[in-house]
Amino acid sequence: MRLSQFHLRTEKETPADAEVVSHKLMLKAGMLRKLAAGIYTWSPLGLRVLRKVEHVVREEMDAAGACELSMPSVQPRELWEETGRWEKFGGQLLKIKDRKDAWYCYGPTHEEVITDFARAELASYKQLPVNFYQIQTKFRDEIRPRFGVMRSREFLMKDAYSFDIDEAGMAASYQAMHAAYTRIFSRLGLDFRAVQADSGAIGGDASQEFHVLAESGEDAIAFSTASDYAANVETARAAAPAPRPAASEPMRRVDTPTQKTCEAVAALLDIPLARTAKSVALMAGDVFVLALVRGDHAINPIKLAKVDGLADYRLATEAEIADYLGSEPGFLGPVAPRRALRVVADREVAAMADIVFGANAVGAHLAGVNWGRDLPEPDVVADIRDVVAGDRAEDGGELKLVRGIEVGHIFQLGRKYAEAMGFRVLDASGTATVPFMGCYGVGVSRIVAAAIEQNHDEAGIVWPAAMAPWQVAVCVINPKNETHVVEAAETLYRALQSAGIESVLDDRGLRPGSMFADIELIGIPHRVVVSARGLAAGTYEYRARRAGESENLDRETLFQRLA
Ligand code: ATP
Ligand code: MG
Ligand code: MG
Ligand code: MG
Repeated sequence: MRLSQFHLRTEKETPADAEVVSHKLMLKAGMLRKLAAGIYTWSPLGLRVLRKVEHVVREEMDAAGACELSMPSVQPRELWEETGRWEKFGGQLLKIKDRKDAWYCYGPTHEEVITDFARAELASYKQLPVNFYQIQTKFRDEIRPRFGVMRSREFLMKDAYSFDIDEAGMAASYQAMHAAYTRIFSRLGLDFRAVQADSGAIGGDASQEFHVLAESGEDAIAFSTASDYAANVETARAAAPAPRPAASEPMRRVDTPTQKTCEAVAALLDIPLARTAKSVALMAGDVFVLALVRGDHAINPIKLAKVDGLADYRLATEAEIADYLGSEPGFLGPVAPRRALRVVADREVAAMADIVFGANAVGAHLAGVNWGRDLPEPDVVADIRDVVAGDRAEDGGELKLVRGIEVGHIFQLGRKYAEAMGFRVLDASGTATVPFMGCYGVGVSRIVAAAIEQNHDEAGIVWPAAMAPWQVAVCVINPKNETHVVEAAETLYRALQSAGIESVLDDRGLRPGSMFADIELIGIPHRVVVSARGLAAGTYEYRARRAGESENLDRETLFQRLA
């Protein structure tokens, strides 16, 4: 590739409206252009990086034996009615109508479509196990799209779905994906950690997330210093709307019977009432239960003040809570999987209760709270740290908290979708049986931003090798006047390409300062400068993006260095 023929458009100024470093640098390097809230065009440069991530993901999925297919992004309502998710999925589901008034959604995920495909394609245990995957555009109408492609509304996901005849098979398929994900994130050169996902109520190893560790992460991860134990403390901040009343509405104190109600419910149902420094929550066993159920109606006890006929309610079971959490994240609040994570951050409760904020006084709350005006922007990690810091994990280790960016999520679904959609296969004895399913997501576009959060300096992006748009930039000094320099640079460029070293020739004729600034900003791992002076001395000036100093190397040494 010659940069003179490529569309590269970098910005000198740091964009003011971007909050996190990855978003800033992606805009500055000209990788992205915003079309609408949470919707972006990937420039030729951005797309090269996105394709690199895709490439690694595809290779590892293929190596793990998964079969690539491609499913539609527009999906009919009827399919989503079969699983009940047309209603339950909530506001993230973008619903659209065609000219005949038939409803569709733009796919936020593909469990329904793949199960529909599977029930038509798979009839016998002999066809199992099988794992289908695609790398495809998703749409989720996120409440707060932000940080560029880190939390966008349209994004690229690799989603995979496994089908097995029994539970043991499902566990094996899940383990294979765990191993594949570990290879993917290692190859991409990311500092990551696999953690128990928040769906603790489903139990065991049924769901794990892969997090890139970064201060800008929206999730809080708690891990033990004494074992492998690590879990996500789900941030309701991302899932639930922050209370933002009109700026004109003043913050005021309201008397609410919430706490008294909780105490009454606790007494009624004979369960202990947990009290943290800032919040109350009903507890059963090792799991926070923030749900009570009557018929098919569930309610958060925080809102119980408005409900009469309390005696008709019973505690939600873990499965019911998991079901609700899966369908409408944030509605019922966090269900913490371990003793160590018995925390409900005050602001999460506030988010669930829409407008009411704890006043740290019995029976009193604050309404009309506007973050940023009345209180600092929420910092869930800090909230949780208050309570967790110094706490002991079950294994006796100390619990540490770090921030993470969720880049992958693997899940044992069991028979839920197959059952709901009437999907059966014949087992070895000839009996029709409901297969076991797993689903596995990778946030392909989010990874690009997450990698930058971990790999940057004052000059710009520092790509891990596997994600770099090119490995080497061959920079030509003064190409307009020095034809022999241009020829030497082109020869070197072609030799690098033949040696399988992906290179770009910077023949734009920029002044060295601007040219080098661009090459550093866009994060090319290796830079080779070809100049009249160097050629006279028989050397090329070489500099690694991560090294401070450049060196003058002869051709042979240069190739050894780049090999
Ligand atoms: P989050 O908790 O960040 O909202 P999620 O748990 O809703 O993510 P999953 O349903 O597990 O997301 O989807 C699989 C992967 O898709 C996630 O691990 C993440 O990397 C990616 N992803 C999800 N939502 C977005 C988004 N709005 N923008 C970019 N990537 C996303
Ligand atoms: Mg989400
Ligand atoms: Mg999540
Ligand atoms: Mg997830």
